[in-house]
Amino acid sequence: MIILNRQDYQKILNHAAAELPNEACGLLGGYEDGENRIVTNVYLLRNVDESAEHFSMDPKEQFEAVKDMRSKGRQLLGNFHSHPKTPAMPSKEDIRLALDENLSYLILSLKEEKPVLKVFRIKNGVAEEKLIVI
Ligand SMILES: [Zn+2]
Repeated sequence: MIILNRQDYQKILNHAAAELPNEACGLLGGYEDGENRIVTNVYLLRNVDESAEHFSMDPKEQFEAVKDMRSKGRQLLGNFHSHPKTPAMPSKEDIRLALDENLSYLILSLKEEKPVLKVFRIKNGVAEEKLIVI
């Protein structure tokens, strides 16, 4: 499972709301404890696509975020992005672009009034939902 504290969850929610109508994205740094992944650093990145249907992270910001987490002794655990109008399920493109099976892919859906956050691991084009605890 992946563990996200309430403050970081709120940070992701605020970022996703601020970026509407476009998708918002970012990176998750933290550490592994046995089977669990604990998120300790959330990085809010710019969606250079400026699109409501897909996202690309700014490569320079990505590099800076990974550098920062390494300097803090953390590792890259995964990323997140929002779906302003669709459910919290990976799109075909999300699956196609998920090249690292070791990363956790968080998707925040703002489709309904109440936001829905889900996490997936994606391997060989197949997305498997994992448990997330806030
Ligand atoms: Zn998506």
